[in-house]
Amino acid sequence: MKFGGTSVGDVAAFERVFAVVSSQLDRHPVVVVSAMTKVTDALLAAFETAKKGDFAEAFLSLTPHFERHAEVSRHYLPEDGPNLFNAELDLARDELSDLLMRVTRRSLPLQMLKDAIQSYGEQLSSRLLTEVLKAKGVRAHHVDSRRLIVTDDEFGAAQPLVDGTNELVKLELEPLIGEGEVPIMGGFIAANRGGETTTLGRGGSDYSAALVAAALQASELQIWTDVTGVMTCDPRICNSARTIPVLSYEEAAELAYFGAKVLHPKTIKPAVDNAIPVRVCNTFEPNEIGTMVLTDSPEAENKIKSIAHKKNITILRISSARMLGSYGFMSRVFQVFEQFRTVIDVISTSEVSIALTLDNTADIDKIVPELERLGDVEVDPGYAVICVVGEGLRASTGLASSVFSTIKHVNVALISHGASSVNLTFVIKDEAAPDVIRKLHAEFF
Ligand code: ADP
Ligand code: ASP
Ligand code: MG
Repeated sequence: MKFGGTSVGDVAAFERVFAVVSSQLDRHPVVVVSAMTKVTDALLAAFETAKKGDFAEAFLSLTPHFERHAEVSRHYLPEDGPNLFNAELDLARDELSDLLMRVTRRSLPLQMLKDAIQSYGEQLSSRLLTEVLKAKGVRAHHVDSRRLIVTDDEFGAAQPLVDGTNELVKLELEPLIGEGEVPIMGGFIAANRGGETTTLGRGGSDYSAALVAAALQASELQIWTDVTGVMTCDPRICNSARTIPVLSYEEAAELAYFGAKVLHPKTIKPAVDNAIPVRVCNTFEPNEIGTMVLTDSPEAENKIKSIAHKKNITILRISSARMLGSYGFMSRVFQVFEQFRTVIDVISTSEVSIALTLDNTADIDKIVPELERLGDVEVDPGYAVICVVGEGLRASTGLASSVFSTIKHVNVALISHGASSVNLTFVIKDEAAPDVIRKLHAEFF
């Protein structure tokens, strides 16, 4: 069972988690929990402030977040007797102070310090949840994820080493589960082989949960969040969004990849590989079934299951008349992105040019000069990717036409269709996205 940040945001949220966990004790759950909502953002902001040299401000900015943890602890943990969580909180405060100081002084590599700092969200939430559940009579047992999930050295977006992780997860968790205890661990955080703290990328707690589910061959992976499953579009954009009862793994992967934040893209993989059904459920409506993600799923009647989107996308266009009729152009373009470990989302090509979209533009200043050796380069920020997803989309006649006629008033900058059988993807200006999503949603749902 994975609980997201909003599911552990405040005192009331912890009560809901307790209700969900305690209602399924007979199924022997393992609990993976995210940082309390907004805490990871706050830790990252503190890191940036410290990087600019303002240690005092960086540390001070965390005070309200320490207080949020303390408030939950005061509410649930008995006043008589030792409060194990408060001791942890004091320790975390000291360690964070030390780490932020190191950032200002650059006394360790920044990437390493950044992961160490952002790991405190999950370190604290998992310890707090353990103590709260224990106080309410659940046999909860805290397990430090950094002893279980082993990754490579790519700080900030570390890749798990699956065999090692499987072995450790089984070794540590199976005896606890066997004794009727409920292991509680933080998502998102891991460690490399040298024991240094790493993280799996933003939203990565889903991934941690999937890795643990796969290692234990769990009967189900439950992703508990603040909406009832995966919906026909982001409910924050369109209030008539509905829950999708069943999705195939492929549909879920496309949706997650193209911005349906509710599932982390990589979550799908360990679950698919091990045929573990994934269920996305709502802590506010625990009795609703939510969305089941299964190996296969029936086609929707109109083929379209959901509309995902991702904002803040940059288009890069590379054109080279020199390359007309010659091979190797694409390969050289891709090599540049490989060199800077930058992921391309959508791509469209012609004889002498390539247009592609990037979500992560951290290295764009280095990428562009390299590409300029191949041809003319144009950088165009401020776009959104819209992705219409549904099993059977590629094979159906007339769908592209009805999608585009619904939005004929907007300029489409790029289209990709046919690579996957389940999606139709296009790119428009950021500011047009909410209206386009609402129009498509009204038309198809
Ligand atoms: P958590 O903290 O539980 O991991 P996230 O914020 O990562 O939660 O994901 C849940 C949010 O995803 C929802 O509040 C919703 O606004 C957003 N979302 C975007 N697209 C969709 C979609 N198609 N279906 C459901 N939720 C979506
Ligand atoms: N706390 C991390 C984040 O905000 C991981 C997660 O919530 O899944 O990205
Ligand atoms: Mg999430």
